[in-house]
Amino acid sequence: MAIKILPDEVASQIAAGEVVERPASVVKELIENSLDSGATFIQVRIEQAGKRLIEVTDDGSGIPPDEIRLAVSRHATSKLDSAADLVRIVTLGFRGEALASIGSVSRMAITSMVRGGREGARLQVEGGVIRDIETASATEGTQVRVEDLFYNVPARLKFLKTEATEKRNIDAVVARYAAAYPQVRFILEQDGHTSIQTTGNGDQREALGALYDSILVQQMLEVSSAYPESGISVRGFVSPTTETKGNRSGISLFVNRRWVQDHALASAVVQAYHTMIMVGRFPFGIIFVDLPAHKVDVNVHPAKAEVRFQDSGELFSAVQRAIRRGLLSYSSIPTVHSLSSEPGASEDPWEGNRPDQDAGNMVSSPYANQQAAGSRESAKASDKSDDGRSKVPLLRLIGQISNSYIVAEGPDGLYLVDQHAAHERVLFERFMLADSKRDASQQLLSPVVVEFGPEDFRLVMDQLPQLVQFGFEVEEFGPGAFIVRAIPVLLQGSDPARALRVLVEEFEEDETPLETQREARIIARVCKRAAVKAGQSLSGEEQRALLKDLEACRSPRTCPHGRPTMIHISLDVLERQFGRKGAL
Ligand code: ADP
Ligand code: MG
Repeated sequence: MAIKILPDEVASQIAAGEVVERPASVVKELIENSLDSGATFIQVRIEQAGKRLIEVTDDGSGIPPDEIRLAVSRHATSKLDSAADLVRIVTLGFRGEALASIGSVSRMAITSMVRGGREGARLQVEGGVIRDIETASATEGTQVRVEDLFYNVPARLKFLKTEATEKRNIDAVVARYAAAYPQVRFILEQDGHTSIQTTGNGDQREALGALYDSILVQQMLEVSSAYPESGISVRGFVSPTTETKGNRSGISLFVNRRWVQDHALASAVVQAYHTMIMVGRFPFGIIFVDLPAHKVDVNVHPAKAEVRFQDSGELFSAVQRAIRRGLLSYSSIPTVHSLSSEPGASEDPWEGNRPDQDAGNMVSSPYANQQAAGSRESAKASDKSDDGRSKVPLLRLIGQISNSYIVAEGPDGLYLVDQHAAHERVLFERFMLADSKRDASQQLLSPVVVEFGPEDFRLVMDQLPQLVQFGFEVEEFGPGAFIVRAIPVLLQGSDPARALRVLVEEFEEDETPLETQREARIIARVCKRAAVKAGQSLSGEEQRALLKDLEACRSPRTCPHGRPTMIHISLDVLERQFGRKGAL
């Protein structure tokens, strides 16, 4: 066959494969066009999960009658003049591909009239071929009706998921945009049923109602930080540490107001919760990152769902810091709402997720052993805390129960402290303080030789500088062996060979990209082993010291693995339980 240039409608159909994957992608492109046109009202109507009909109506700037034919031509756009514009894109569209692509795989009608116009125009396309252009008495704005999507590409139809799934995908697209553009009024109707409706009154928290139920909306934590040096700002709403999901799909990211999917950026969000929620659980939320247009390349992906950053490290750390800051100023103590055993009330949110409690018996030193070094360091930690952070109230010790829990009284009722989790948190924060990490080592009476297999030997060799930072004094000692002369004070009393292996195991497992997070994870594991165990009896003085150290922590409410360190039973609950107040 001779080489020839493909007819336009064939080229469009090929391009459509990338731009229009499923009904939800059509909805996304049409909403983006409406937003670009300055609409304040966007109505989306769907029939049969978008296979029968996708109709998007807006009150935006409209398309002039003499340009409507161009709107459905490939690479025709009003949003870009020259290649130079590509580096300063402020609109959501710019490729001039969406309408041509959608028109090539459906029967599409566009009716539009510019603001203040007398009459509008209607254009009909079928499988990429323009059927008709006529004047139409329209209202201001644009309506795009897409019928029988993929009627001419049966292969695509077959790849669609179930109707329920495609409907959910459409809900998700509209919900995200509705939540992200609170000044625009959105309505989504699927098969005659209104599933999303916002007011467009500009209230950002209210607009979250498109994504979350009203109780969650109240609980979402607001994040807002700007970093003038880099021109980056991070705003949004994230889940409290008490609410999590099983995966990261609940994280919606907008970069310069464009919805993007970026795994690394989502990881930065997840890492901000590090040690505050359970390992294996994920936060959710909606994050708006704004940065100078030249720092982000939006022209990477036909559906514009992925972007590339000039300096991703800078951006990720900004996102992580901003969210972390937000979290630290809000974190709360889980409160028991009722002690009765009605279903739901007794549900243990940590059940089934509990990290293994057998912390091993590597370290036998009781809490008292770390006490001397401890109180000074933790006093320092509290000096560093930011303003506005909610703290653990001052607690009065009552005693220890079951050799595992410390009972204390606070200004509003009873507090039960898990001694192991609490001590883990105290040790973790002490260890994370940069200056306490160095020279916190304990010389061994006699050095110990530890042998490793070739692979672990490599690992230890690679990590020698870090091990020194942790307080190990260790050097190579013949083939496959190391000699340990000192171990971290934190691990004092433990078998040096095992201590070293614990860290090496961590190095092996850990693939967290950010250095400090990785370090934090390792330290968290070490602290878990070093902390007092459940079942260990503590003297009154030790119990008081633990409460005091916990009060001084930056994040006292959770252990480094995200379990709560304490439970609060308010006076109110006690009074209800004793029938002194309200009905049960
Ligand atoms: P792009 O958005 O990348 O420019 P599209 O194919 O999505 O490409 O749209 C082509 C052009 O049609 C746009 O540049 C715009 O001028 C016009 N257009 C599309 N939808 C609308 C709308 N809802 N309101 C006003 N103009 C629109
Ligand atoms: Mg577009």
